[in-house]
Amino acid sequence: MRQTLEKLIGEGSVVRENIRLAPYTTMRVGGPADFFVEATNATALERAVRAVRGLDLPYFLLGKGANIVIGDGGFRGVVVHNSADHICFNGDLVTAESGATMYPDLIELAASRSLSGLEHYVGIPSTVGGALWQNLHFLSPAPARERTMFIEEVLEYADLLTEENESKRVGVDYFEFGYDKSILHWRDDIVLSATFRLQEANQADIYRIMKENLAWRELRHPDLKTEPSVGSIFKKIQGIGAGKLIDECGLKGTCYGGMAISHLHANIIVNHADGTAADLQALVAYVQKEVTQQTGYHLETEVEFVGDFHPPTSGKPVFLPRPEGLVTAEELAARHSP
Ligand SMILES: Cc1cc2nc3c(=O)[nH]c(=O)nc-3n(C[C@H](O)[C@H](O)[C@H](O)COP(=O)(O)OP(=O)(O)OC[C@H]3O[C@@H](n4cnc5c(N)ncnc54)[C@H](O)[C@@H]3O)c2cc1C
Repeated sequence: MRQTLEKLIGEGSVVRENIRLAPYTTMRVGGPADFFVEATNATALERAVRAVRGLDLPYFLLGKGANIVIGDGGFRGVVVHNSADHICFNGDLVTAESGATMYPDLIELAASRSLSGLEHYVGIPSTVGGALWQNLHFLSPAPARERTMFIEEVLEYADLLTEENESKRVGVDYFEFGYDKSILHWRDDIVLSATFRLQEANQADIYRIMKENLAWRELRHPDLKTEPSVGSIFKKIQGIGAGKLIDECGLKGTCYGGMAISHLHANIIVNHADGTAADLQALVAYVQKEVTQQTGYHLETEVEFVGDFHPPTSGKPVFLPRPEGLVTAEELAARHSP
């Protein structure tokens, strides 16, 4: 099968077998993929997807793995890892292959050319393709931070390989963007590249927004390098933050195996000690049960679960003590309010 795949895909891709997926995700969990194809440019990505579809093999397209949890049993089929990352500027337009890294690569390049529109999304782990899948979003610049900004606002068009195997250029409307939503959630279209229309702006203003947004994240999000996570694990409920509910239920520090609710941010589960997907599932179920019992609200996960899962870790949770000296963003704000 490996040779058949290599022959069909041709140059620009490497096919490997039995590759552990955990290192390719920000949560650092996930067993092996039967086959792992590294697509290094958009043509290779298109050929890889056409090949696996032609062979009728189950497949999954993997970006930075920042919004997925892969099961400990891994993935039976082909994981296509998108590392197609060419970026090209033409006036105020920038075209990026879909495996390009939003930050630092694309955002830093745009900022260095004094082009504004992408700087709001600094510090978010994402490929360009993942950003369109998610409709990447963040708050408008400080101090007002009065609205949520979305990547759809600067998207000009994207080149796709559609579910029907057509090569097609589509505009923004095609994506039916919403909050955490795009057509890519329910159609198996593959984004090959995306073109964004940016605006010339004062470079110092762009860098100021980047600096402020990075500082905002640093205060609220555990460091991915030392505490891997998928960012927010539960969807927010209209008008009520999931983190607030979890915090009010006294669940910060709750821990199954190597997975724990962060003391810094109650809606983030961190992999603090070689946690597994089974630990994560047990913790998610425990938090859902406790929050429903204590508040009546049901929390839903906002990440995608991919591949084969073992049964959740059994037993009772333990509680990790709060690290000494830790100050949350809310506590800091309370100290500074009159
Ligand atoms: C610490 C942290 C903070 C975060 N903060 C934010 C935030 O502030 N705002 C926000 O919006 N998100 C945030 N996220 C979520 C995450 O960064 C986004 O969902 C990101 O866009 C996922 O991109 P990815 O490349 O990792 O996609 P992956 O997780 O690899 O894949 C996600 C889905 O997208 C599909 N996909 C990927 N590439 C393509 C493509 N080329 N064509 C079609 N489908 C594709 C995959 O098949 C999969 O179904 C955060 C995550 C973390 C870990």
